Amino acid sequence: MLSASPGAQGQSINARISVVSLTPPRVRVEAERAQGAKAWSFRNAYAGIIGLGERIENVSLSDAQGVEVAARKLAPGEYEAAREATKIRYELKLDPPRDTNDTAHVSWLTTTRGVLMPGDLLPLPAARAKLNLTLPDNWKVATVETINGGGQYELEDAESSVFFVGADLRTTQTSVSGMELTFATAGEWAFADEDVLGVVRDIIKEHARINGSIPRKKALFMLAPFPQTSDATRWSAETRGGTVFFLSGRSTSKAAGLARLSVPLAHELLHLWIPNALALSGDYAWFYEGFTVYQSTRVSVELGYLTFQDSLDSLARAYDNYLAQREQDKYSLVEASARRWGGSGGLIYHKGMLVAALYDLTVRQSSRGKRSLDDVYRALFRQHRTGVERREGNAAVIAALNSVDGGSDFSKRYLESASPLDLTAALDTFGLKMRRNGARTQINVADSLSRAQRDLLRQMGYN
Ligand SMILES: [Zn+2]
Repeated sequence: MLSASPGAQGQSINARISVVSLTPPRVRVEAERAQGAKAWSFRNAYAGIIGLGERIENVSLSDAQGVEVAARKLAPGEYEAAREATKIRYELKLDPPRDTNDTAHVSWLTTTRGVLMPGDLLPLPAARAKLNLTLPDNWKVATVETINGGGQYELEDAESSVFFVGADLRTTQTSVSGMELTFATAGEWAFADEDVLGVVRDIIKEHARINGSIPRKKALFMLAPFPQTSDATRWSAETRGGTVFFLSGRSTSKAAGLARLSVPLAHELLHLWIPNALALSGDYAWFYEGFTVYQSTRVSVELGYLTFQDSLDSLARAYDNYLAQREQDKYSLVEASARRWGGSGGLIYHKGMLVAALYDLTVRQSSRGKRSLDDVYRALFRQHRTGVERREGNAAVIAALNSVDGGSDFSKRYLESASPLDLTAALDTFGLKMRRNGARTQINVADSLSRAQRDLLRQMGYN
């Protein structure tokens, strides 16, 4: 998730990115700003990855007349010009990251394909940009960006744009719930392209039904093999703007390969809505990650990718992971979100998922099935669509949770204070039994259920 830098609105960049070599992978960037600047900076850290600025080489600056301007490197990705410059030229080494987990979050190139993300290629801030791409012969491009008559991509928000490029790209256009969807993939998979596209369509329809609308007019789903060697079970993903970029290891079995993708896809595709289509700002990852883990598990039960017991097993795993977090209860979920890359990442996902489950079950129980977490999502989209003024995310989401729940006790206790989570007592009320076997938690449906408990669990997929 990205938020635009303040004051970036007026900045506009004209740039050309040219692939100059594939072995080693290297691009040249020539960029021009409307206004001159002395400070030129590039993204150095993103999603816990540090040192992106080290990929930049051979920087040269010039003024509007084309006269060279001396530049000094202050730090990786930070340059200072002797006087105002409007043009910059440099090269970037684009070797794929060593760690497969990082592959969805940065630009990279191999001899056959790659992903170009202007957010880590162009000088920042880069809100609006006109971009030319010079690629090897016969390479294709998949992107949600529109191209003008002059062959330039017109980017409204360069930091959230993504270009999938390669010699062997295959694309399919389709419409899902009124949203124009492009599916782009490359390489060989055990399943047919239509099979995975079918899963993506079903998930988007379900999210659109729950959230009450499509997230945007156009979206792109990119499925790529890892550029590194990886095992079949590994995946890495990022949803940037209207692009879901998903990398996966290769399974030899069609059924296993699709089954492995469907649950993480339900999670990642929900990011097209949350947070990407919400006009909210700030760090509220306890919601857009933690609650997303829970909500995508619910949708996966709904669509038959998981059984009801599978969903209880994921709650049990989340609880074990939560207990294993060193700093588990030093911070509230709201505080932990502000220090997400500083070691509180696990808490946001695991405790966030558990709190989402408790919230959903509590609201369903007290309203006798008339309200649920789904109402919170719908309320958020009614009130905070992109386009209206940005509100602080924590406050906006907590207000929506409180309004559906009818009070603020839940959010004060589980989101705003640093209290430990006692799942045993909490689950008891809903007819769920929790047992701990050593370090492993098991959650099952209780042997005897009240009628209200049975009705509640049936809503969640129990039968
Ligand atoms: Zn996520």
